[in-house]
Amino acid sequence: MCLNCDATRRGLLRFSLGAAGLAALPGRARAISQKPLIMLDPGHGGHDPGAIAPDGYYEKTITLATGLELHHALLETGRYRVAMTRKRDDFISLEERVNMALEHRADLFLSLHCDHLPEQNLRGASIFTLSNKASDKLAAAVAQDENSADGPPRDAPVRVSPQVADILASLETRATKIGSATIANNIANAFANKIPLLPDPERSANFAVLRDPSIPSTLLEMGCLSNAADEQRLRDPRQRQMLVARLADAINKYFSDPVQLRVVG
Ligand SMILES: [Zn+2]
Repeated sequence: MCLNCDATRRGLLRFSLGAAGLAALPGRARAISQKPLIMLDPGHGGHDPGAIAPDGYYEKTITLATGLELHHALLETGRYRVAMTRKRDDFISLEERVNMALEHRADLFLSLHCDHLPEQNLRGASIFTLSNKASDKLAAAVAQDENSADGPPRDAPVRVSPQVADILASLETRATKIGSATIANNIANAFANKIPLLPDPERSANFAVLRDPSIPSTLLEMGCLSNAADEQRLRDPRQRQMLVARLADAINKYFSDPVQLRVVG
């Protein structure tokens, strides 16, 4: 997958469906409900366990539990429609995850993960946004790990001209970048002094699941499974409840911003 191919797919969808076709897509219902759609993406699943803690506990188990809890918390606010890329222990490719968000016309995409770092004393959450150039070596290594679920990248066929794809990409990417940076910053602020954060917790790298140019997207590494204290925190439902509450606060703040409301409307 590449940025232009993603833009092309979205462009293709628009051109081939036309206005009537778009109205039939699930996301178009927001014109009536005015409720933003949030796509939660619990990382890994099925044959892909993600990171594995020293005692054998799987990342995929924590990401699914947190995703389901956040799904419940967000629905309870009555402010959102919430969808998930998986609700069970299923393998979903990274490309399918992006396509699900696109087909639902999601207003926000939040991918949930746990780190595994070489230094066992490092602990805390970090929040990633998309960038072709990684912000630092750690961010590049995390992206490489998270992107490995699908095996070698495959490019989608290009069916519109490169010029059209470029225009679509640049128009959508600008607004998306601002939205992605805003939600990442909201999460870092909501976690501050309440949920452990890695030093410099806001980073960027080239994550496959963040590549749709039309949807503000962020990838949250909720903590490090290589650190025993973080593993316990992430496995404990009461401590996860606090993390979920902070995430819901960050999302509420994001959608309270008049700029985002204009985009959703
Ligand atoms: Zn992961």
